[in-house]
Amino acid sequence: MRIALVFLLAVSLGAQTRQRKAHEHGSAKVNIAFESVKSAPKGVIEFEAPAESITGFEHEAKSAADKAKQTAALTTLKARFAEMVVFPAAAACKITNKSAKVEAEDHGHDKKSKTKQEQHSEVHAEFDVQCAKPLTGAVLTFGFAKVFPKIHDADVALIAGDLQLSVEVKTGKETLRIEAK
Ligand SMILES: [Zn+2]
Repeated sequence: MRIALVFLLAVSLGAQTRQRKAHEHGSAKVNIAFESVKSAPKGVIEFEAPAESITGFEHEAKSAADKAKQTAALTTLKARFAEMVVFPAAAACKITNKSAKVEAEDHGHDKKSKTKQEQHSEVHAEFDVQCAKPLTGAVLTFGFAKVFPKIHDADVALIAGDLQLSVEVKTGKETLRIEAK
């Protein structure tokens, strides 16, 4: 099942990248994939954001201070993700971090003119989510800016079977209802 979910994520991420600029400071992307929202749903969540919005910088962390900042920010992301993408308490969902890293971003840059100021990097993280109860009709809420104040908008996409939903979170008051439209 994991392979199928990863494939679904790749498809939805690819579609988003085509629609939107890949790297925009303050903008995060979240892709949630469930095979089904019935019985005890199991899924994966992928999170992507410019490093500037998470760690506060995008140059390579060489100094001890920068490395510490990066580690602290990734630890916060892993520990508080359930405050950023909030499943209803009734569904008893458990979010587990699988990976979180900072990656330098090269594409889209002219190598000749590349200077330190132009260097960009992205934070990528992956989580597993396991819920005890069905998610049919469940309403997701979001708290990105509460954890990382530099995130001012986030594109959240959710796929589950035939269901494809999305919401752009700007004020933090947006919700995502899991049901067929
Ligand atoms: Zn950048």
